Amino acid sequence: MIERKIKILPDSLASKIAAGEVVQRPASVVKELLENTIDAGATKVTIIIKDGGKTFIQVIDDGCGMSEADAEIAFTRHATSKISSLEDLENIHTLGFRGEALASIAAMSQVELITRTAESDLATKIRVEGIEIKETTKTAFEKGTSVTVKNLFFNTPARRNFLKNNTTEFKHVFDVVIRVALSNPNVAIKFVSGDETVFNLKKSNIEDRVRDIFGDKAGSSLITVENESGNLRVSGFVSKPDFSRKTRVDQFLFMNGRYIISRNLNYAVHQAYENLLEKGSYPFFIIYITLDPQKVDVNVHPSKMEVKFQDERSVYHVISASVRDALAANNLVPSIHMHSGTDEVSRLGWQSNFKHTHSNFEQVDRRTGEILQASNIASLPFQKVDFTESASRPETQEPNNIDDKQNYFQIHNQYIIIPIEDAVMIIDQHAAHERIIYERTVSNFNNSHTQSQQLLFPYTLEFSAGDTALVQHLVPNLELLGFQLKIFGKNTVILEGVPTDVKPGREETILQELVDLYKENEYEQKLEPRDNLAKSFACKAAIKFGDAMNQSEMRALVDQLFKTQMPYVCPHGRPSVMKLTLGELAKRFGRSV
Ligand code: ADP
Ligand code: MG
Repeated sequence: MIERKIKILPDSLASKIAAGEVVQRPASVVKELLENTIDAGATKVTIIIKDGGKTFIQVIDDGCGMSEADAEIAFTRHATSKISSLEDLENIHTLGFRGEALASIAAMSQVELITRTAESDLATKIRVEGIEIKETTKTAFEKGTSVTVKNLFFNTPARRNFLKNNTTEFKHVFDVVIRVALSNPNVAIKFVSGDETVFNLKKSNIEDRVRDIFGDKAGSSLITVENESGNLRVSGFVSKPDFSRKTRVDQFLFMNGRYIISRNLNYAVHQAYENLLEKGSYPFFIIYITLDPQKVDVNVHPSKMEVKFQDERSVYHVISASVRDALAANNLVPSIHMHSGTDEVSRLGWQSNFKHTHSNFEQVDRRTGEILQASNIASLPFQKVDFTESASRPETQEPNNIDDKQNYFQIHNQYIIIPIEDAVMIIDQHAAHERIIYERTVSNFNNSHTQSQQLLFPYTLEFSAGDTALVQHLVPNLELLGFQLKIFGKNTVILEGVPTDVKPGREETILQELVDLYKENEYEQKLEPRDNLAKSFACKAAIKFGDAMNQSEMRALVDQLFKTQMPYVCPHGRPSVMKLTLGELAKRFGRSV
């Protein structure tokens, strides 16, 4: 007899090994069962769990159900009604297709299936344990399917011991249910944990579903994204910059109805925010990608959450462009909201600020102080005008008449305060000017447009050898910016002209300051050279905190600010404008409004 070291594993063991890849925790079971309900065309789904799903999971749907013959085979590995050929595999329209879920779940728990199709009067009830069908009976049941999974991992103690506490497992299940709810707004979803109904979402459209899940206030701080390019459609919602989060938790990406994980595509969204977010902040978004299933491989991993796009670059660019367009079309001034710090923490586990802090974004017409409707935002004038030019224009010609007769106030030579109809606007003078200069510089770079003023008497500047080399390296871009300079030897730069934005009296120091900040930005933020130059220059050329301004300078600044594309944040993502409403003040002073 031949002795072999290699042995074929018995079925029961092989199925447990395979099952381990699909079922890692209660949440994976819920995910698979929910996907089956969606594939079955359900319009109403109920999920009931106990102990975070460890001891009990039940998913009930009103979908197409299964005949007795189908129900008996459904628990067999690779049993699926969803594909039957290689062509089908390359053209997946369902969430499931591997025929593994029920088999895997049954291999590790005690399962009871009750299912009835529209054609039969009685339902089939099957009890399965460790892939063996223990019992098949008939019972009364509505059309649809109920799958009950008890004591997950009862026969695999190593797995069972690996599970976290009930709260953590609940949170994982919760996340799964939320994802399915977000990708299937037309399905009513009820989620019960123990004695508690966590939520009961009625059938609705996507806008209302988002509101139902995240709350009205969060819902209204979202910007709609909508774009189509060829067969690729990108839609959904992104948060206004001030609504960003400190972690990446609330980022949802769906591809053809499937929740997917893709660092790269998440980054595409993030990138669209460019300078609108501070470092360490992440946008909140829900993005739906729709494309030809043949252009994407969803069979990368048993969990089906990783996908491979045929042309990921295009997907990346369309997402990024769609989000950028959506952000640019929204010109917003955030309101100051003073909270007493008693906000209750949301039961669903979102941070308390989720529901409150950014509740009051309003789009304010700078001329009238009126709250704008989304439809007329696009008509705001966005053309750019040179700040130095308009500063010298007579006041009456300025288009900015929030209220012509209204005085602007500068406080502490730092902030500009402007009373508007039902509020005061507060503007950070440095941040505002930075934004203006930054956008102008970027646009000058893009159009190779130089705004320079020649110096009457050139300056001879001493630089370190390193800085001279850096200046040398940056010469083309510095010239585009408006510097006119010559380099002599290792330490000398002759400055003959400076950008028009440089204030009189600062000509001699601006280049060294610019170089210092450039180096700092390069080191800390790894900015791309031109963007770095634009940001560093904007910061150094902008009016400083502490510089006094007169009425016409303040008006010109404010006027220019609201002509930029993103007036409400400085190039580093910090706010430049805020609004304090009379209502908020009245509340603070205990007045009834
Ligand atoms: P897959 O979803 O990959 O096909 P599953 O193991 O999840 O594999 O399910 C096997 C089969 O059982 C499915 O193809 C489907 O025909 C049937 N099925 C599973 N769940 C349901 C359900 N809730 N309603 C109707 N049919 C179902
Ligand atoms: Mg399935």
